[in-house]
Amino acid sequence: MNPVVVWFKRDLRIEDNSALTAAIAEGPILPIYVVEPDYWRMSYTSARQWQFLQESLLALDQSLTALGQPLWVAVGDIEEIFTRLHQRFQFQRMHSHQETGPGWTYSRDQQMKVWSERNHVEWIEHRQHGVMRGRADRRHWAKQWTQLMDASRAPLPATLTAIGNPPKSATDVLEGVAIHPERIIDAQPGGLFAGDELLAGFLRSRAENYRAGMSSPLTARTVCSRLSPHLSLGTVSLRTIWQVSQMRRDELKSTHERSRFVGSLKSFGSRLHWHCHFMQKLESEPRLEFEPLHRGFIGLRDHQSGDEERLQRLTEGCLGWPFVDACLRCLRQTGWINFRMRAMLVAIASYHLWLDWTLTAPVFARWFTDFEAGIHFSQMQMQAGTTGINANRIYSPIKQSQDQDPDGQFIRQWVPELSQVPSEWIHTPWRMPIQHQQRYGCLIGQHYPEPIGDPVQLGREARAKISAWIKQHDMRPEAARVLRVHGSRSTKNRVPKVKKASAQQMRLDLG
Ligand SMILES: Cc1cc2nc3c(=O)[nH]c(=O)nc-3n(C[C@H](O)[C@H](O)[C@H](O)COP(=O)(O)OP(=O)(O)OC[C@H]3O[C@@H](n4cnc5c(N)ncnc54)[C@H](O)[C@@H]3O)c2cc1C
Repeated sequence: MNPVVVWFKRDLRIEDNSALTAAIAEGPILPIYVVEPDYWRMSYTSARQWQFLQESLLALDQSLTALGQPLWVAVGDIEEIFTRLHQRFQFQRMHSHQETGPGWTYSRDQQMKVWSERNHVEWIEHRQHGVMRGRADRRHWAKQWTQLMDASRAPLPATLTAIGNPPKSATDVLEGVAIHPERIIDAQPGGLFAGDELLAGFLRSRAENYRAGMSSPLTARTVCSRLSPHLSLGTVSLRTIWQVSQMRRDELKSTHERSRFVGSLKSFGSRLHWHCHFMQKLESEPRLEFEPLHRGFIGLRDHQSGDEERLQRLTEGCLGWPFVDACLRCLRQTGWINFRMRAMLVAIASYHLWLDWTLTAPVFARWFTDFEAGIHFSQMQMQAGTTGINANRIYSPIKQSQDQDPDGQFIRQWVPELSQVPSEWIHTPWRMPIQHQQRYGCLIGQHYPEPIGDPVQLGREARAKISAWIKQHDMRPEAARVLRVHGSRSTKNRVPKVKKASAQQMRLDLG
């Protein structure tokens, strides 16, 4: 009997895996993952993402092997690999999950659509997350999301009919691949076992302080779920996370206790919804990877002299604004920082440094272990103020520092040049008199860089540039289009007020 192919993509798990379950019901299965070197040459990929993928493939192989069928892992051009596989096994059906990825994977899937039709292979793509294909707007989108998340999960396979061992084990194949060869020390561990453990620990106790602690980088690392790279590679299903967190919430509610925990799980549930809300934007409008969602902002931050130097200082975490540098260095080393700090970093890069988000998006993407194109490009644009439907937010680096790291503990951890500087000066060390700089062993301009500029002044200049741009262009028709296509249910009937919203928000936070 010809096998049914299960093409693993970003669903590297056996639990709640509709593609796997459907294939198992049809006959012997051939589970395969294809490592595509061309993808790993894209500017948004990095060693830490590759390491996470490798660990996830090995864990998947272990789970499948326990069911009697090891994972086949191949490296190379997708079409060539499937052609060889087809010549050998003459399969007629293959299952996978739908993928909402960057332009590269989109084109590859189109290529595979043609291949499958040419070879008379029926390719069945199952729904992944709450993203929907072919949507013109968001009507009933939220309802269908909840329905999908509340539906029964695909059962854990008890057994399967095997096709046989691959020519080389997954371990041997992966050891021989020369992709991003450097080893990352502080990397978050990948794989479905690591994902399950993380989820269990989060729901057991860490989530209790989620709501209160998610904003500061001092606490967020512990109280946030840290499930994002697992969602990105599908080592844990979003539906499973949703359902078990809802069960935990009900259990806590029934005891009428620990309302802080219940509130935190409510906030967490909203974030799971956001995951798909942002990915849906890329699914509906793939061009947002390359140009502003609101076309009226095309050309807003055209390349200008000094971009390279400012980008370099950003990349090195040497802007001379301690809290921002601490966040940049922490992210660069560990591959993760919390949402609020991501938003602040991108806003500072886009407003104070006036760097176009297309320049900074690959830098941040490479740092993130959890790079997820749909969320990443949508969020980059939102924080850079190019969506036309979100209020622009110009964060003050000093105010954020005082609010989120009042004693400078996080700064001292990540910017050791400032380790002796007392709290009084830690947020603005450039204001320290020279005798203090000498006493605390930190000469500004020598041990720690001069600030790249006056943050208040740079924020004002950015606001003025945006206001001038908006005055010169008629932004409203395109803003209305963006809102019609991407606006969530709650903003359905709101007429966008680009000018007003921008100016009003930008007055905040200039500190
Ligand atoms: C500029 C920018 C770029 C980003 N790029 C990515 C990215 O490439 N990949 C990515 O997964 N997240 C991205 N985010 C969203 C968010 O910062 C991360 O999902 C979150 O910090 C991951 O940590 P966590 O798993 O502990 O999240 P938790 O707070 O525990 O939330 C649980 C899950 O909800 C989802 N989620 C949480 N916050 C958001 C959000 N604001 N938007 C969409 N989904 C959310 C994520 O899937 C997350 O894993 C980005 C945010 C910004 C501002």
